[in-house]
Amino acid sequence: MLRLDLMELADLVRPEQLVDEILKQNPQLPLPIPVVELAKLAGISKIEALSSQGFEGMLIANAEKTEGVIFYNGTVPRSRQRFTIGHEFGHFLLPWHRQTTFECTAEDISNRTRKDWEVQANQFSAELLMPKSLVKARLQANGDPELGHIQKLSNQFDVSFEAAARRLIELSEYACAVVFSKDNVVRYWAKSDYFAEQIALRKGDKLPYKSPSKQSGSDPEEWHELIASSWVKERQGEDLPESIYEQTLCQEYGYKVTLLSLG
Ligand SMILES: [Zn+2]
Repeated sequence: MLRLDLMELADLVRPEQLVDEILKQNPQLPLPIPVVELAKLAGISKIEALSSQGFEGMLIANAEKTEGVIFYNGTVPRSRQRFTIGHEFGHFLLPWHRQTTFECTAEDISNRTRKDWEVQANQFSAELLMPKSLVKARLQANGDPELGHIQKLSNQFDVSFEAAARRLIELSEYACAVVFSKDNVVRYWAKSDYFAEQIALRKGDKLPYKSPSKQSGSDPEEWHELIASSWVKERQGEDLPESIYEQTLCQEYGYKVTLLSLG
């Protein structure tokens, strides 16, 4: 049975504090996290799909933020719909988000946004859908990171592959990084705290000349060993590691995810 004691949430201001409290009240939360049911317990009376162009998510609440309704883009994959619902739920619970209406674009509900409120709502959604303690326990059991682990997280937590990859990197205790690309051009990358080297590529750069990640097809389970300088640059006074290992998943429409590991 899910429960939500809103009084206990009232004084919490940071996304992770709110999620920690929700988990504390519900130590046996099932997976995937029942985001719709939790939002309803908090006072969201209706959660409905809309399919108008250019629309991603919306919250309409009363001034006291005790009641509200959420609309989400129903034309995107279910994992993304869940992230959007989590995002609007974040606007509803975060006490500094005082507006009564939030209209959020696809960019707002992505890591491209620089707006504080949107960043916080995204953090809330990521924390709620992929709780730190649950993800960490899986990562520790899995050992050395692999693309297959990201796929498993994405399935178990019902989040997009990209959201699962970012979360793995955020919480990993291994020297690993992921590079997201489209048409062999870097969109962005993220690296774990344990990945000390500097990645030599920036947004808009082509994937490294010698990297198999450039190939049009790949086996996401296969590791390729390259000289480290293919991906990382020397830091002052530090020697480069000899090798770097990569695995690449080719997705639809030219999107790719490359996992880098320093082994
Ligand atoms: Zn928003």
